[in-house]
Amino acid sequence: MPTEPPTSLATAAPVAPATTTASTPTTPPPTPSSILPLDALFSNPVFAGGIGLASLGAAAAFGRRALISGTALLRRQMLVNVEISKRDPSYPWVLQWLAQPRDNTGFLASRLTRLRNLALSTTTKSINAPGAGEGPTHADFRVQPGYGRHIIRHKPGVYIAVNREKASTTSTGTGEPHETLTLTLLWPHRHVLGEVFTEAHALAHRFNEGKTVVYCARRMEWAPLGKPRLKRKLGSVILDEGVKENIVGDVKEFLAAQQWYTDRGVPYRRGYLLYGPPGTGKTSFIQALAGDLDYSVALINLSEVGITDDLLAQLLTQLPEKSLLLLEDVDAAFQNRRQRDADGYTGPTVTFSGLLNALDGLAAGEDRIAFMTTNHIDRLDPALIRPGRVDMMVRIGEATRYQAAEMWKRYYGDIDEDGTGCQRFLTRLEELGLFGQTEDPDVPARHTSTAAIQGLFQFNKGDMEGAIKMAEGLIPRTFEP
Ligand code: ADP
Repeated sequence: MPTEPPTSLATAAPVAPATTTASTPTTPPPTPSSILPLDALFSNPVFAGGIGLASLGAAAAFGRRALISGTALLRRQMLVNVEISKRDPSYPWVLQWLAQPRDNTGFLASRLTRLRNLALSTTTKSINAPGAGEGPTHADFRVQPGYGRHIIRHKPGVYIAVNREKASTTSTGTGEPHETLTLTLLWPHRHVLGEVFTEAHALAHRFNEGKTVVYCARRMEWAPLGKPRLKRKLGSVILDEGVKENIVGDVKEFLAAQQWYTDRGVPYRRGYLLYGPPGTGKTSFIQALAGDLDYSVALINLSEVGITDDLLAQLLTQLPEKSLLLLEDVDAAFQNRRQRDADGYTGPTVTFSGLLNALDGLAAGEDRIAFMTTNHIDRLDPALIRPGRVDMMVRIGEATRYQAAEMWKRYYGDIDEDGTGCQRFLTRLEELGLFGQTEDPDVPARHTSTAAIQGLFQFNKGDMEGAIKMAEGLIPRTFEP
């Protein structure tokens, strides 16, 4: 029986015809994939799935990195950051500007409407006139952005991100933590920064208008001593005839001559020494002069513990701008030297050479007007009185007849129209020998201070008869040890 080829085999694996014709295509040469079993590999669902997942992961990682660098690039390109250090003078101005209300709807209208984290700054002042004793106080509350991030609306469509940060490190100068304020704006709004700083500066100027800032040494830096004080009028300080005008004239002449100093390469410095007994108006005059010139006062008391040569030198090289330097009790430097010589004291104080060095040594700052005061001129070393250190020396002494009369006019001028009250007061002071002369052999010649006369007039506000009656109280008391 002829055997038939099994059908199942024929269908399962068709056999190529044994003979070929020209029209029949030839079998293609084997490709690498057909050599390596890649087709099979890729057609393997497990392998293909793995590859797919790995590619997805790589793409996601790449995408993430691209997004991060893209965002950073975008931030760099689209945002502007300005960092302000607490050490910069503009720091308090910008903080104050941030707290300004923008319309009359009160607190909610302030720039800080979106802020949750606020800091309160309070200023108080007595409603009564100075010297009128304790009275009710007026408190002024201001909110400032607290620490952290805030968004504020500057004007429609313009937002500023504010980040107020306190560093963990402390400033070497003040021992307080260092702070920064960062303002961030969209790049197209960058011009707003100029507006912000100009407005903040103008606002600070308005706030300090009519006031004198007094700086004092806090560790190695200058820091405002309390809030700015109301300017004292020069006219309210009564020095002997012509004395005030002389000093004020000299200072103004010096201020006008800056170019002269620059042209000649001479350090632009001038020193004044005011000496005399306490309570004669030395400090008040310097403060009033600063107010008149629109300057601040940078005050160092040389008799204070902790003021050393190094500190003095450091402070004098970084005086606040537009300030009169006031070195009080300058005799302390000489006193210290004697004390050191006498008892071998080695504590921290200013020495004589430290003072001279700070005034005109290598460490001395360039531009400066320095006022020095002392109640003990006899303790000073003549080396201090030399151009560049002290150019003008003025004694501010006990009250003269002229000063007593001028002070009377300031206090009672409006009620003593014909001036007879003033005459009686002056005669009374003469009888008491308070102008340093006496015609009565039983009355010693003595002096009183302008501070004491001011005290008498303030006690007898609006009561000139009371002031005349109590004039005896101006006699200086002597204390037996
Ligand atoms: P000093 O610095 O000479 O010790 P102050 O300037 O500190 O004196 O004055 C002490 C107080 O007396 C101040 O309140 C000041 O107003 C007042 N006083 C002293 N002298 C005068 C003066 N010549 N004119 C006006 N006030 C004076």
